[in-house]
Amino acid sequence: MSTVTKVHARYVYDSRGNPTVEVDLTTAKGVFRAIVPSGASTGVHEALELRDGDKSKWLGKGVLKAVSNVNNIIAPAVVKAKIPVTEQAKFDEFLNSLDGTPNKGKLGANAILGVSLAVAKAAAALKGVPLYAYFSDLIGSKKPYVLPVPFMNVLNGGTHAGGSLAFQEFMIAPVGAKSFHEAMEIGAEVYQHLKKLAKKEYGQSAANVGDEGGVAPDIQTPEEALDLIVEAIKAAGHWGKVGIAMDSASSEFFKNGKYDLDFKNPKSDGSRALTGAQLGDLYAKLMAKYPLVSLEDPYAEDDWETWTTNFPKTKIQIVGDDLTVTNPKRIAIAIEKKACDALLLKVNQIGSLTESIQAAKDAYAAGWGVMVSHRSGETEDTTIADLTVGLRTGQLKCGAPARSERLAKYNQLMRIEEELGDKAVFAGRDFHIGNKL
Ligand code: PGA
Ligand code: ZN
Repeated sequence: MSTVTKVHARYVYDSRGNPTVEVDLTTAKGVFRAIVPSGASTGVHEALELRDGDKSKWLGKGVLKAVSNVNNIIAPAVVKAKIPVTEQAKFDEFLNSLDGTPNKGKLGANAILGVSLAVAKAAAALKGVPLYAYFSDLIGSKKPYVLPVPFMNVLNGGTHAGGSLAFQEFMIAPVGAKSFHEAMEIGAEVYQHLKKLAKKEYGQSAANVGDEGGVAPDIQTPEEALDLIVEAIKAAGHWGKVGIAMDSASSEFFKNGKYDLDFKNPKSDGSRALTGAQLGDLYAKLMAKYPLVSLEDPYAEDDWETWTTNFPKTKIQIVGDDLTVTNPKRIAIAIEKKACDALLLKVNQIGSLTESIQAAKDAYAAGWGVMVSHRSGETEDTTIADLTVGLRTGQLKCGAPARSERLAKYNQLMRIEEELGDKAVFAGRDFHIGNKL
C-alpha cells in the first residue's frame, strides 16, 4: 500500500514555453504529480539539467532524454525496489544510486527531482495530512508553523527581461504586515501603483513584464529602479511596512575579473565595468539610501575573495544562490569562509528533496537564514509553498504578484494560512530567523 506501482513521465511546458519534465507516480492511494522548474541565470555548480541538445527540436531544449530516463530506467527500478514512499531519504538515495554521478549527470536532476517530489506527495496522502504538515514531520520542525514573508520580484532586469538594467531582481518584502494575507495585499497594491508609475515615467511599454512578472522598464541604473519602487510604496500608502531586496545575479555579468553593468549592451565598451571593491561601494551607497533588507548574489559564484572581504561590512541579510547552489558541499565552504548568512534554496539546483532539506539544516546549524525560491522558468506545481512552511524558513521568493505560475505558490500559502489559523505565526521582520521563532 505504501509502495509505488507505477511511474510515468511526460513533457509539458514551463512559463517560458520550454519543455520540462512532469512525473505521475502511482500508489494504492492515487496518482501524485510533480513538475520540475528551470532557471535562466543558472549557477555553473548546479546539478545537471538534462536537455536533449538537438537544435532541430525546441532549439535544443527538449527533455525527451530525461523523460525517457524516468520511464525506462527509474520507473522499473522503483517499482521493483518497493521502498515505502514514507522513506524519503532512502528513496532519494536509491534514485541517486541509479544515477551514480555527483551532479546527477547521467539521468538528469530534472528526471530525479520530479520523482523525488512526487514521492513526498504520495507519502503525505498516505498519512492523510497536508503536504506542509508532512514536510514539517519529515524535517522534525518545531511548532508553531511559520508563514513566510513573500519577497515579490516587482521589477525585472538582467537575463529575465529586455531593457539594459544589469541587476536581475528588485523585490518588495512587506515585513511590517501582520499576516501573509496582509503581506500579499500590500504587495499587490504596491505592484499596481508601480505599473502605473512605470508607464507614466517610462512610457507605455514599461508596463511589459519580465519572466517573473515584474515590470521591465528600459532603465539603466539600480537607483532608477529603487526610486520607482520607493515611489510606488509611498503611493500605495505602505511606506515603513515594506523592505526592499535585490538579487544582482552578478555571475551573469562578471567578465574578465570585473562586473560590467552594461553587459546587456552588445556594444558595451567596458566603461561601466566595476571591480569587486567598487561594486561593494555601490551596494553600500544603496544600503544607506534605501530600505534594503536582503541582497542576493552580490558577487559572482567563484569570486570568493570579494564575498568574504565585503560580507563583514554589511548589516543586512546576504544570500548565496549561484554561490551555494543548494549544495551541502558549497554551503560548507561558504560557512567556513564566512561569505554570507543566508541560503537560497532551489530544489532543482540539487535535484532531490532529501538533499534540499539537508542544505537547509546545514544553513540553520550555521545560524544562517533560508529563503525558499522558485525558478524563472516555473509551472503550476506548488510544492515549494508547502516546503517553506514545513521548513519554517520565514521567507520565500516566487516572483511578482502577477502571472499564475507565480501566484500558484502565493495562493497556496494563502490557503495554508487560512487552514492553520492561530496555529501559525507570520515571520514579519524576523524573516531571517524564521526557524527560530
Ligand atoms: P533563475 O533566476 O531561476 O533564472 O536562476 C532566479 C535567481 O537567480 O534567483
Ligand atoms: Zn538568484
